[in-house]
This record gives sequence, structure tokens and C-alpha cells, in this order.
Amino acid sequence: MSKNLGKLHKATNAIHAGNEPEKVTGAIIPPIFQTSTFVQTSPGKHQGYEYTRSHNPTRTALEECLASLENAKYSMVTSSGMSAIMLILHTLKKDAKILCGDDVYGGTYRLLTKVFNKYHQTTFIDFTQTKDLEKAFKVNKPDLVWIETPTNPLLKLTDIKKLSKLCKKNKVILVVDNTFMSSFFQNPLDLGADIVIHSMTKYLNGHSDVVGGCLMLNDKKIYDQLWFLQNSIGPSQSPFDSWLVLRGLKTLAIRMERHAENASKIAKFLEKHPQVEKVIYPGLKSHPQHKLAKSQMHGFGGMITFFVKGDLAKSRKFLKKLKLFKLAESLGGVESLVDHPAIMTHASIPVKEREKLGITNNLIRLSVGIEDLDDLLNDLKNALV
Ligand SMILES: *Cc1c(COP(=O)(O)O)cnc(C)c1O
Repeated sequence: MSKNLGKLHKATNAIHAGNEPEKVTGAIIPPIFQTSTFVQTSPGKHQGYEYTRSHNPTRTALEECLASLENAKYSMVTSSGMSAIMLILHTLKKDAKILCGDDVYGGTYRLLTKVFNKYHQTTFIDFTQTKDLEKAFKVNKPDLVWIETPTNPLLKLTDIKKLSKLCKKNKVILVVDNTFMSSFFQNPLDLGADIVIHSMTKYLNGHSDVVGGCLMLNDKKIYDQLWFLQNSIGPSQSPFDSWLVLRGLKTLAIRMERHAENASKIAKFLEKHPQVEKVIYPGLKSHPQHKLAKSQMHGFGGMITFFVKGDLAKSRKFLKKLKLFKLAESLGGVESLVDHPAIMTHASIPVKEREKLGITNNLIRLSVGIEDLDDLLNDLKNALV
């Protein structure tokens, strides 16, 4: 920002960081620099921009805004969450060892086991078992640790501070996929993580109209390496998509507050419902890590996982009866979505693994939107019969 306004809160930064009024016309909103190249006055003489795969002013504005929200020195925007993950995996040497959470996003699991398995060796473990963790570091000698907290779809938490201490002791890079909480509710870099990634497709953009990813970090050497890889491989985001995310971010604070408020009330409603076997939501006292959730997150988010009483047929009946909650993959948009992980988002995980994790046929995942709470409750009431 042009004027130094001191340390500002997130709701303010989401609107103002990177959003300086445009210099030529004073336009309050950063323009979409929909251009592939930039004219140079003499060879090599330019204003910091040469070619949009490398840099683009609209993307720079978004990167500045994101860095401020995650308390990061550096931020890089990519074409998707998966390409952000891919770039990090490319920083590793051949035969590197990765220790990864055992119920990470299905696409991350697929990338590690079907693409990067040619180069690296990944071991999947349950990070909530601290005792196993010390042992896992000794046995596996990882170069990189990859976690999601809360996990998807079981919403298990990992103590980021504790894990980051263990990683530092062993000189291991810690990556946290922070998609589920967004930068508004959780800031892993502040807790000692080395790199944070997001699928911006979800909460950061929040309007289900963009696919994008980002990386945030404080280490210049790793940032330079990531930027080199992005420029060499090519998964940069288009200026228009960056602009849409910049626009979406302006309402991040009020969206996240409303997501969490609706989700908390829906989780309590489901917990009391006779047709529901069990509810998992970090904001519920019944969540085994509710205390950790309160200490490392600034809110409990908009994702709820629950088990209907019954089998696959019962799940199908419930999903069919819903009207407002739309059956779709993805999450984090203003509209409420419902997902059947065993058949949809987590189908790429082998059945045996899924069963071991507890992703059963009666497990339902809700991405609670920001609609009127009563309408959402009525929709669930009507479907849970
Ligand atoms: C969606 C998602 C991704 C992948 O992001 P895309 O934008 O779909 O490529 C990675 N991690 C998590 C937790 C996600 O939910």
C-alpha cells in the first residue's frame, strides 16, 4: 500500500492489500492486465514485467493481498491447487522421502502415488498419533512433511506448532495445505510451518467460478526456486482469474464468519438428530481435538462431516431429497454443497485404504454456505427422514 497505515487487521487487508489505486487513472480497482507481453523501451529495459507466464501486474496485486493475509513474505499464485502442490514436489531431489498425512485430499494422494512415485517415496501416516510420529521420523528420515489440518473428510487435526518443532529439529520442510481453514481462520507460518498452500478454488475465491492455487512462505531461497519452476514449467494463473480471486477476497472475512456461524449451528442440529450416527466438526465439544482447534485456529470453518444411520441406500435417499444443498465436488463457495466422499471426491483412494480410514458409505460431507440458516436447516430436516 502506498501509505503506511501500520499493522491492519485481516478484514481490512483482504480489501486493501495489493489494491493500490491505479496510477494512470486512479481506478480504485486494479485493472485486469489481459496481455501476454509488455513493450520494452530498449532491449532488457522494462518496468518489471516482460511476459505474463513470468509476471503479470494483476497477479502481483493478488499475491500481495494473499501474503498479507497469511503473514508471509512471499506469495505465488498458480493455475490450480494441484499445480501449486506439483511445484513444491519438483523442488525435491530424486529419491526424496515424503511423510504425508493419511487422509489428504484425493488429488494430492493421486499425485504422490501415481505421478511423483517415479521420483520420490511417500509414506502415509496418521499425524494425530504423536508417539508414532517420533518413530516415523526416525524410521523414514523424511525430507518433506505434508499435512492438511483439519483433514478431508475426517477433520482430524494436527498440532502444527509441535510438528514444526520436530521438523526443525530434523531439518525437514513442513508444508501445510491450509485450504479448509483459509488464511482467515488459520495461519500455519505463524506456528512454524515452512510453506502454506491453498486451493484458491475454495474459500479464498469463494464464489465457485475460478480454479486456482497459491503458495505462501518466508524463505527467499525456496521462493526463488518455486518461482523458477513456475516460470520453467508454466502453470501461471491467467490475469482474469487472478482478478476474480482478488474480487472474491474482499469479502473473505464476512464470508468466513458466516460459514462458521452456519456450520456451528448445523453441526449442533445434526448431533441431536435421531437419523444421525455421529457428527465431526472441530467446533463441537465432542470433537476429540476441540481444545487444539480452539488454540491453533481462529474459527472452526464451514466443513462438517457426519454419518447417517444406515447404509449406502440410506445415504442415496438423503442426498436425493436435499434441495438447497447441491450434490457436487469442491467446497468453500457461498452456496452449500454436499458430497459423498466414498463415491465422489475420494474415489481415487483404494477401497481398502478408504475403509481403514473410516470413509464409509454412510459418510456425508457438507460444505456449509452463507445462505439463510433456517433455510439450510429446513432442507436438512426434510431430507433426514
Ligand atoms: C481442492 C483441493 C486441492 C486441489 O486444488 P485444485 O484447485 O482443485 O487443483 C488441494 N487440497 C485441498 C485440501 C483441496 O480441497
